[in-house]
Formats: sequence, C-alpha cells, structure tokens
Amino acid sequence: MTEVAKLAVLLEDARHAVALTGAGVSTESGIPDFRSDAGIWKDTDPMAVASIDGFLADPLRFYQFWRQKFAALATAPINATHRLLAGLETRGRIQAVITQNIDGLHQRAGSHRVFEVHGTFRRLRCLDCQAEESIESLFSRFGERDQTEPPRCMRCGSTHLKPDVVLFGEQLPPTFQEAEAEVRAADVFLVMGSSLEVYPVAGLVPMAKRHGAKVVILNRQPTPFDDDVDLVIRGELGHLSRELMSMLGVG
Ligand code: NAD
Ligand code: ZN
Repeated sequence: MTEVAKLAVLLEDARHAVALTGAGVSTESGIPDFRSDAGIWKDTDPMAVASIDGFLADPLRFYQFWRQKFAALATAPINATHRLLAGLETRGRIQAVITQNIDGLHQRAGSHRVFEVHGTFRRLRCLDCQAEESIESLFSRFGERDQTEPPRCMRCGSTHLKPDVVLFGEQLPPTFQEAEAEVRAADVFLVMGSSLEVYPVAGLVPMAKRHGAKVVILNRQPTPFDDDVDLVIRGELGHLSRELMSMLGVG
C-alpha cells in the first residue's frame, strides 16, 4: 500500500480527524512561505515590520512593507489542498482545520470550522478603541496611492490600526485554546505544509500524540517531529492532495 493510500485509510476510519496547515499549503496559490529560499526577510529586519514593537514604533513603515503583500493575498486563488480539506469537511471526514495561515484561503475554499491561530489579514482592529475595519474598506480608503502617512482608525483617529495578525511579541488569540481542544479530541492529526518551527503551534504535534492521535506529516522538507509521528509523506502538496481527492472521492 502506498503511503498516500495509508493516509486515505486513516481518514476513512477516523472518528475525529483534524488538520494543521502552514504556509506550505498556500505556496501553490502564489503566496511565498517564510522559510524557503526566496526568504521574505532577505532584505528586511523582521522585528521592524513583523513585531508589535516595530508596528507601534513606525506604523507607516509597517504598512509600506505589507500593503502590496496584503493586496496579493486578497486575490490569491485557492488550490488543490484547500479544496481537499473543504471537501473532507463536507463529507464529515475531518472535523476542523487549524491554520497558521492568515490568508483566509481555507474559508474561501469552503471550510467552515477553521481556527486561525495566527489571526487573519482580512480584519483590522484599533488597539486604542477596539474599532474594527475590513481590509476591503482599508483598500478602498487608500486605493493604489503610495502611502505617506499610516492609516488612521475611522472612529478615534489613532494610527494604531493593526491587522488582526499575530505579530512577534504578541500572545496567540483565544481561538488557540479552542484549537487545543480539537487536538485533544483528535484520533487522526494531519499536518500539512508547516516547518513546525514556530511555537506554540508546533507543540500541538506532541500534544496530539500524547492524547492518542495517529499523526501524519505531509511536507516537502523534513521537520523536527518526523521521527516521533506515525507516518511522514514527503512531496508536493498539490500532487498529494489531488491523489487523496481521487482516492477518497472528494472534489
Ligand atoms: P514555514 O514557511 O515555516 O514552512 C512551510 C513549510 O512548507 C516548509 O517546510 C516547506 O518546505 C513546506 N512547503 C512549501 N511549499 C510546499 C509544497 N508545495 N508542498 C509541500 N511542502 C511545501 O511555514 P509555517 O510553518 O506555516 O510558519 C510560518 C509562519 O508565517 C506562520 O506562523 C504563518 O502565520 C506565517 N505565514 C503565513 C502565510 C500565509 O498566510 N499563507 C505565508 C507565509 C507565512
Ligand atoms: Zn480607534
């Protein structure tokens, strides 16, 4: 039996399957991940544009760095892995997707039970008055103009209008606790496209094992947990997802 066939059997027999996804599930949508060679930090200090202190110190610089990237996220297409996971949920074969991605592509593909443990770029929140704004609204306020000033909160005028993504130096949102409950309930835990180097999310893998789940890792590169899990499938996610869709009759 091939390794993908073994995974298909696990999913067919699962009572409560949960997937954990990382940036690797979205690279085939044209969104670069963080730890492959292209390296989005090649010319930029991550602490200046991806930490809460960097944001508070210089919101304009933050938006100058992220604006084009957020615009690209808004138009990125879904891919086979997003479709696989949405199809598995529709058929009752998986119960939840926990994602480190902020791109919203799982929901666009039709997944409903999505736990966005690193937040989403789609919503902004004012750190001073808690007013919320959608990214579409922000785009329409700023258009394509080059920004010379940071965006201001429409309610209180503060420049601390921050995308609801978890920056370095910030706590994970309460949805992380809900994600942990899913992991404790899981009998199959499927990790896709994550280097498993970012904590506390990487800690979900040993947690799943401790609670008795069969853990499967699908990734192009090795991860620090490969020796501790039940099945490791090395390869390109688009290919693996299409194979699984045809085996399971999803899609
Ligand atoms: P990561 O960049 O650390 O790891 C991605 C992993 O996916 C790598 O090991 C890589 O080998 C693998 N991979 C990439 N493309 C693949 C493919 N087509 N097939 C198989 N494997 C593939 O990503 P991470 O573990 O999610 O951590 C990065 C952090 O950055 C996350 O916390 C996330 O919040 C954020 N991030 C999000 C996005 C997004 O929303 N799409 C993109 C980049 C980074
Ligand atoms: Zn405000």
